Amino acid sequence: MLTSLSSVLQKAQKNHYAVGAFNVNNLEFIKAVVEAAEAEHSPVIISTSEGAIDYAGMEELGTIVQIVSKRTNIPIVFHLDHGKKMDLVIDAIESGFYTSIMFDGSTLSYEKNIKQTKELVKLAHKKKISVEAELGAIAGIEDFVSIKERDAHLTSPEQVVDFVKQTGCDALAIAIGTSHGAFKFKQDCRLDFKRLQEIRRGVNVPLVLHGASGVPKTVKHQCLQYGCKIEQAKGVSDVSIKKAVKLGITKVNIDTDLRIAFDAGIRSFLQEYPEIIDPRQIMTHGKELITKVVRQKIRLFGSSKRA
Ligand SMILES: [Zn+2]
Repeated sequence: MLTSLSSVLQKAQKNHYAVGAFNVNNLEFIKAVVEAAEAEHSPVIISTSEGAIDYAGMEELGTIVQIVSKRTNIPIVFHLDHGKKMDLVIDAIESGFYTSIMFDGSTLSYEKNIKQTKELVKLAHKKKISVEAELGAIAGIEDFVSIKERDAHLTSPEQVVDFVKQTGCDALAIAIGTSHGAFKFKQDCRLDFKRLQEIRRGVNVPLVLHGASGVPKTVKHQCLQYGCKIEQAKGVSDVSIKKAVKLGITKVNIDTDLRIAFDAGIRSFLQEYPEIIDPRQIMTHGKELITKVVRQKIRLFGSSKRA
């Protein structure tokens, strides 16, 4: 069943676990994520980025999610990820598909971010849709040349208090050193946990960790074995994710790990069965590996048996 982000995250916050938000692009990704959540009896957040909407269409993705959600008792949140254009976010709110939207005003000035987030919160709440906002720029710790520069980009604990109060957002994406994509760290995985603790102390709003893929070793190995060039790929360690959840993260975003799983599944199948041209068999192999990875993530976040 479809439900709001707020209800799922508030329960998670109370019981000290996190819920995974998994990025989908097509039917196979949606089915893989829902099947994993059902197998784990876990609530789940299905995310569509602007890129996914460009690729597959908002109505197309929304319709599939709506149908799949009706057939299960697992709480499913349908979420717009990183809506940067006001128009697109408003379209998503009015589409009737989404139960949650993210407005990413992180590239705007602090004042403009507040103003636009506030406007969208007002619109969304009228339709009982939750709003995730973003404060700070999501980028890796290694991207900064000095502590001063780092402080200017990562989320400021002082600003969070004012931002949440002024916008009334239901969840907040914070920057503590994770970054998007498959190449997050050149050295060891490092996150600013002290900053997370300070933010958590200041506000009650559910906190979101973006760019949290782990690039699991076995899946990466399978990718490399079959010709994918991602030797330098490195994600957030499981230990760091566990610590972040313990310190108060309640929504963890995963995109890259699903891409790698899909890639590994399809590459290996094509090489091992060059005589098979049936797209259903080819896609199923990618889909099954996504389900496996999503199940591992759900267990890592502690949301198994919470549905
Ligand atoms: Zn993100």
